[in-house]
Amino acid sequence: MTRITLDGVAHSYGARPRDERDYALKPLSHVWRHGLAYALLGPSGCGKTTLLNIISGLVVPSQGRLLFDDRDVTRLSTERRNIAQVFQFPVIYDTMTVAENLAFPLKNRGIDKAAIGRRVAEIAEMLDLTRDLARRARGLSADVKQKVSLGRGLVRADVSAVLFDEPLTVIDPGLKWELRSKLKAVHRALDLLMIYVTHDQVEALTFADEVVVMNDGQVLQIGTPAELFERPAHTFVGYFIGSPGMNLLPARVAGREAEIDGHRFPLAASYPTAAPGQRVQIGVRPDHTTLRASGGLPVQVRRVEDLGRRQLARVTLGAHELVATVPPGTTLAAGAAAVHFDPARTHVYVDDRLVEGTP
Ligand code: ATP
Repeated sequence: MTRITLDGVAHSYGARPRDERDYALKPLSHVWRHGLAYALLGPSGCGKTTLLNIISGLVVPSQGRLLFDDRDVTRLSTERRNIAQVFQFPVIYDTMTVAENLAFPLKNRGIDKAAIGRRVAEIAEMLDLTRDLARRARGLSADVKQKVSLGRGLVRADVSAVLFDEPLTVIDPGLKWELRSKLKAVHRALDLLMIYVTHDQVEALTFADEVVVMNDGQVLQIGTPAELFERPAHTFVGYFIGSPGMNLLPARVAGREAEIDGHRFPLAASYPTAAPGQRVQIGVRPDHTTLRASGGLPVQVRRVEDLGRRQLARVTLGAHELVATVPPGTTLAAGAAAVHFDPARTHVYVDDRLVEGTP
């Protein structure tokens, strides 16, 4: 059982960082709990790999401490941290069989033969590799090689954590879904702390118990997939998570009322009036923005997209663009319509941060 604590950890690749912008990872404190699956999610260059490499020991952070349970490991090597890693591309021995590859991390630690056999069989079964156990790795397809690589990462029961860096990059798109759900099942069965880097939100949301959303070197929110959907803590999270992302509109807010371009609508809680110079925005997901023939904020319908299970309308409210759900059976007059925001799902952001209202 290992709990990993980041205590004010930050990293700059340059020797003398002058300001915040010089940090690939801005200061972060967080406890990663044993048995949970985490995903580090964010656009390219946001610092995911830097954070993963700090946890694995490939990068020593320029400030802060890293603890495994109560032991300070900030300057310990990867081997001494007892971490397993799976990379983007398969790391396996071509001349060995699949079984030998899977057994290798255990053999290295002097585990007895019978126990190795049992564990290799168990992991192979979980990853659908049982039929391939006797085959040499050299002849395998890229997909199967990566499954063996995943198996090597998962085979040791005593590791502090298993770290994955975009492990499904080389996997055929058709197989990705299958392997993703398999990894989730493996996680449930093995009770390990897993941390998984990806820039693909579907991958993050299906794999992880908790998703760490990053942008520009900063962790913006750590939460369950439901929390990220229902209460994005930052406008970036609202926009980045969900497809399409959250509608974000500049607004004025006073008490239980908001106003956009002179149009007023109710909020479910009461908010203080923002200070001069603060940027206030309303955030509502398209699922909670309903298009109606009338009775709401006046909009122009630009386009309606039929997505099979639901219809979405791209509309403009004055100069602002947003996406609304079209309820089944709605008849619209050409062009002009109205949108209704569900007050209970309408959030207020000040300078991009979620503000809690008073009920
Ligand atoms: P990607 O998804 O593209 O791999 P990422 O989110 O994993 O991106 P990082 O690789 O952690 O992001 O990079 C964060 C920032 O640090 C980027 O601006 C990158 O250019 C910079 N960076 C990463 N590695 C180094 C390095 N070894 N030396 C200098 N700068 C680096």
